[in-house]
Amino acid sequence: MSPITHTRDNRESGNAVGFDEAMRDLAETIAGRKVEPIRIAYMALRKAAGKMPPHEILEHVDRAVTTQAGSARQMIYSAFSHGHCVMCSNGIAPCRTCDGSGTVNDYVCPDCDGTGVEICSFCAGTNWSDRHEIPDEIRPAAVSRRIKHAEKDLARLDRMSEADMPASVGKLQTQQRRKLASRLLRLQARLTNLAGVEVGSNTEHVARFHEGASRIERFIEALRAKQPPAEKNQ
Ligand SMILES: [Zn+2]
Ligand SMILES: [Zn+2]
Repeated sequence: MSPITHTRDNRESGNAVGFDEAMRDLAETIAGRKVEPIRIAYMALRKAAGKMPPHEILEHVDRAVTTQAGSARQMIYSAFSHGHCVMCSNGIAPCRTCDGSGTVNDYVCPDCDGTGVEICSFCAGTNWSDRHEIPDEIRPAAVSRRIKHAEKDLARLDRMSEADMPASVGKLQTQQRRKLASRLLRLQARLTNLAGVEVGSNTEHVARFHEGASRIERFIEALRAKQPPAEKNQ
């Protein structure tokens, strides 16, 4: 089926945007290289494509959209892999009990143990859009990108020495403590998500991600204040 047929079908069925128009919109967003507009434009194209099989939509994209930096298809995969949770910023929110300060009446906040942050309940701390919001034809490629990113972050974590943590934690100001806790909690959430949902059949990944998540737990444990944050001690 040609895109022209689809354009006509869609106009007849009352859809606002035809296939060709939706393709032009997508090309524009890809040129702009912004994650959110690319995702929205691809979903609009998909809708305009009516009953066209998804792999054909992507083939149309390959032909219609040329980019300088890699193929349009790769940009679409990337946009969906980077899709963010709409309910939080970075998977983490300031702790509601202490308003992110880490203390309540000069005592360590009982809910966040002084870290000042809590995990977004919507994305479980990953800051990723829900996997079900990623179309089937995109999901495997988007997930493999998420796995690659997690691998990179894990490698960075490998260079962090556990033995260094408790000694330095006491010196951390609230702001630094919150920043580090946020980063660790997010990576931990992502590893747990990937190990649980995405790489179930890849036992090597599952084991490595679970191991990474429990190593992070020990880092976070060290971050939990046994006494009020540093500036309160002075
Ligand atoms: Zn708190
Ligand atoms: Zn979230």
